[in-house]
Amino acid sequence: MFYTLGKRVDWGVFMSESQTNAQPLFGGVEAGGTKLICVLADSRGFIRARLNIPTTTSEETLAAVKDFFLQAAPQFGQLVSLGIVSFGPLDFDPNSPTYGYITKTPRPGWSNINLRGYFKDSLNVLVEVETDVNSSAMGEFTEGAAVDCENFVYVTVGTGIGAGIFAGGKLMQGISHPEVGHMMVPLAEEDKDFAGGCSFHGNCLEGLASGTAIQKRWQTHPKNLPPEHPAWDLEAYYLAVMCVNLTWMYAPAKIIFGGGVMVRSFLYPKIRANLKKMLSGYAHDGELNDMDRYIIPTALGGDAGITGALALARRAYLEARNS
Ligand code: ZN
Repeated sequence: MFYTLGKRVDWGVFMSESQTNAQPLFGGVEAGGTKLICVLADSRGFIRARLNIPTTTSEETLAAVKDFFLQAAPQFGQLVSLGIVSFGPLDFDPNSPTYGYITKTPRPGWSNINLRGYFKDSLNVLVEVETDVNSSAMGEFTEGAAVDCENFVYVTVGTGIGAGIFAGGKLMQGISHPEVGHMMVPLAEEDKDFAGGCSFHGNCLEGLASGTAIQKRWQTHPKNLPPEHPAWDLEAYYLAVMCVNLTWMYAPAKIIFGGGVMVRSFLYPKIRANLKKMLSGYAHDGELNDMDRYIIPTALGGDAGITGALALARRAYLEARNS
């Protein structure tokens, strides 16, 4: 009816039923290294409750999330589904015995945690689990910078680099999620002596252009580097190389950037200028003429992930209802 897998699930879908049935509520959780953001939204998309919970032990933290939903939901309706965005690695294989688990993470006490099962059992709701970058892409698609297109790439450049790729309105997924951050890129001439920061590959994209790599190369946090510092020309070069590769491989309508490094707005004109040179006028002429519309920042900022989590929750509910 209103919905096919991977397509947008507009809040408007629930408008008519909310007047007659018990109000369905949707939960979103974004689990990060220092805190978990929990939100409860009603069927019109209004956030009814929101709580940040510090990340401590897995037992304590998950119990606090569960208690938040148990206490907040009955005041507004009935919690029907939960979208969880988490640091990984996560198991996404529905046929795997550890489906929906955080598998082997360096975070002490968080390995082998049954994230999906814990909330499915303790809250008795539908649960969807997704990576943070894919969820942010989903958020931009549903309510952000990509509401007008079905083919785009969302890239986050922070401590690491990751990307969610939408093609034909669906998130691309191979045997696992794509690892755009680890693509190999040609070294800049002035960067020949830098070994890179990726513990697996040294000078892959993430090893050269993540916030962690910038810090390693210049021995200071990226936020301390002024706009005129040579660090940023180098950064724009590497990100433009990534963009040219993404352009030829996926033919996106736009490339959206988020993450801590990309709040430095002076980076965008630099990336666009580099990219224009690298494209050399080859193919997709019309679409790529307007670089200001092609390389853009997130519209949702820090709320992209949690917006995506709520979209996942809505999708899970409708999928179950329509099946
Ligand atoms: Zn790497």
